[in-house]
Amino acid sequence: MTPTAETQMQFLYALRSNGVTDALVLAAMEKVDRGLFVQGLFAARAYEDRPLAIPCGQTISQPSIVGLMTQALEVQPRNKVLEIGTGSGYQAAILSYLARRVYTVERHRDLARTARLIIDGMGLVNVTVMTSDGSLGLPDQAPFDRILLTAAAEDPPANLLAQLSDGGIMVLPVGQSGAVQTLIKAQKTADSIEYTELCEVRFVPLVEGLA
Ligand code: SAH
Repeated sequence: MTPTAETQMQFLYALRSNGVTDALVLAAMEKVDRGLFVQGLFAARAYEDRPLAIPCGQTISQPSIVGLMTQALEVQPRNKVLEIGTGSGYQAAILSYLARRVYTVERHRDLARTARLIIDGMGLVNVTVMTSDGSLGLPDQAPFDRILLTAAAEDPPANLLAQLSDGGIMVLPVGQSGAVQTLIKAQKTADSIEYTELCEVRFVPLVEGLA
């Protein structure tokens, strides 16, 4: 399903009125049809600014939260980005328009497979979708200029921070699952990590091991 011009306008309006103002992020989100990433019962609601259920008991995040996280990540065209928690693949598709290279990892094999099919179908050749335990990061491809965690950790995982390059940025929800969590931006310098709290969010938990 392709959104009508009016639906698309309302979708972008909801993003802007919720604080997504970065022109490059908005342009990337305009290019990615969220309807492709939502199947079955919820497909008709793909253009609403709300999270929706996807298979394996997971969720595709609320578009304005996707926008705020992407904006906070300050992705540069030459960046190599790691996303942990592919889910539907929606966020990874948006990142692919902003970064040089995107690696996205998911612990549910079925979700990874579906996301890969959709992303390949869109012709996005700079995205690699992998089934693996993202709590370990992706040591073989490290360091990353940007890391985006789309599942909630109780603390910023030290091994992920270690896979961030100097000057790198990681955005992640921190807090208990089932409770309100805080979206945090971590900026790494040669000798320290600076944390900024962005807003309150609710994400499914980061779970160790493959599903
Ligand atoms: N970014 C997604 C939404 C993510 S929902 C989108 O755009 O649709 C969070 C996802 O993180 C879920 O699919 C969950 O299975 C996954 N996840 C949780 N723990 C993980 C881990 N240790 N490694 C990889 N993926 C994980």
